Amino acid sequence: MKSQRVIDALQEGSDCLQRQGIEKARSEAEFLLLYLLNCTQTHLYLNAEEWLHRDELFAFHGLIRRRSRHLPLQYLTGQSEFIGAEFLVNQETMIPRPETEMLVERALKKLRKRNPQLSTVVDVGTGCGNIAITLAKALPCRTFAIDISIGALRVAGRNAQDFGVDIIFLRGNLFAPLEKLGLEGKVDLVISNPPYIATGDFSALAPEVSRFEPRLALDGGEDGLEFYPPIIEGGALYLKRGGYLALEIGVGQADKVKEFIIRNGYFQYLETIKDYSGIDRVIISEKNG
Ligand code: GLN
Repeated sequence: MKSQRVIDALQEGSDCLQRQGIEKARSEAEFLLLYLLNCTQTHLYLNAEEWLHRDELFAFHGLIRRRSRHLPLQYLTGQSEFIGAEFLVNQETMIPRPETEMLVERALKKLRKRNPQLSTVVDVGTGCGNIAITLAKALPCRTFAIDISIGALRVAGRNAQDFGVDIIFLRGNLFAPLEKLGLEGKVDLVISNPPYIATGDFSALAPEVSRFEPRLALDGGEDGLEFYPPIIEGGALYLKRGGYLALEIGVGQADKVKEFIIRNGYFQYLETIKDYSGIDRVIISEKNG
């Protein structure tokens, strides 16, 4: 392999990404080189005329090659930011989204207002653990985090360890692992960002999502709404009176999910919160039955 100067490697990497339809080709190539060299942008450009070591160039080409196949940056670096903190991720876990920050922030606000000594929280479908861990860092709480994927739970467990928080991780479908724990009527918050993409919509998604993120974490069945009724039912069973149900929802799902909540009969619907693009994204309800 021919050696290359920093600036030329960057240009070539950027061109390569662009040819494969990666939108922010230049800044992504730069991001990958910064990640690889573990340096700042200023340092990179001050040394733009320097030659890269052969092994650095080899590794950079590898990253560019994988990114040009549309593997998300977060899976390349193994990290994703959520509310200002870096979480480990891999292809067993969905990449945390900015919209979900709103879900967590609103739920926190509600819990803080009630101010119990120790809140009991259940995160259904924890993925890399971003929701449960952020809550546990912010509040004194006993946190249960459930996922059906053992691969996801492994990542979440490492994240909890890295952040130094105690979380009770349970493997299983929705609330199934809570059976026999005696938590009925004792939970202060049930929070979930369930899979909510309709099966038929997958083909229209960016390849980053449809090819590489775990289907299990995204696919909400024919209409995308499959998981809401059982989560609402579980919420009704496990929440205490005055406890909160905080759910993330997909585009155009607000009315339906609200209807499920009202029809369940145990909840008072509180609010729907829009995300940064003005899309209804979070629904908060309170158990009152
Ligand atoms: N709880 C994780 C998140 O919100 C994963 C959600 C999921 O896998 N559907 O990012």
